[in-house]
Amino acid sequence: MTIVYIISAPSGSGKSTLVNEVRRLVPGLDFSVSYTTRAPRGSEQNGREYYFVSRADFTAMVRKGEFLEHAEVFGNNFYGTSRRFLREATQKNHDLVLDIDVQGAKQIREQLPDAVSIFILPPNRETLEWRLKNRSEDSAEVIQRRLATAYREIANYGEYDYILVNDRLEQAADELKAVVLSERLLRPGQELTEEEKRLSVMAERCRLVNMRERVKPILDSFHDVAG
Ligand code: ADP
Ligand code: 5GP
Repeated sequence: MTIVYIISAPSGSGKSTLVNEVRRLVPGLDFSVSYTTRAPRGSEQNGREYYFVSRADFTAMVRKGEFLEHAEVFGNNFYGTSRRFLREATQKNHDLVLDIDVQGAKQIREQLPDAVSIFILPPNRETLEWRLKNRSEDSAEVIQRRLATAYREIANYGEYDYILVNDRLEQAADELKAVVLSERLLRPGQELTEEEKRLSVMAERCRLVNMRERVKPILDSFHDVAG
């Protein structure tokens, strides 16, 4: 059975960096390349980060039922997950990562209740702003819009199974890898090795119930600014 991992985070939290790292480290993990109406950024390539399509093409795909979920993100662009990637991952007996926003995550949970959801948080608002600016790929206006949206997105963290704080990249990548692998180990009839037990313990620490105290000051750092 294909495991679907939903990964959400406010823009600039380091989600793409972490997902790329985990794809490199974990075999049998496919990545769903979304369709979007936004313009490519910097070094992004069509078919690698996204399929960049016109509004007309996007609307035609919606009409034909080609999306598993789709949403308008930041109030000006559409993003959608094609059904094709889930079909192909299932045929290959691979698992699948979806990098989607909180609205998309809701739609997927309704259709695939066994999907595993992971929310990635920056250590605080200041760091998020710094990373967005330092990435140097968005205008000041776009960055401000993304920061304003961040608080609303973060407020949904309680709907996710696991919470990761991307402070030190190496640790966050290890935790994401642990969550992905430990979910595979939950499949019945598995005898765990010592290394697998270690990963399961690391993943368990990232479960929502065990992260509430860690999340509170992060949320406050956004709330103080959001007012
Ligand atoms: P997202 O996909 O969430 O929008 P990116 O992966 O593009 O975010 O990361 C945003 C910026 O922050 C990039 O310049 C990236 O290199 C940097 N970054 C990511 N994780 C860390 C980290 N743990 N520490 C410092 N910088 C990071
Ligand atoms: P960005 O423009 O920074 O690449 O992504 C903006 C937001 O859109 C991110 O939160 C990302 O997770 C989300 N996103 C990317 N692809 C999809 C998708 O197919 N569906 C939905 N609902 N959100 C997506």
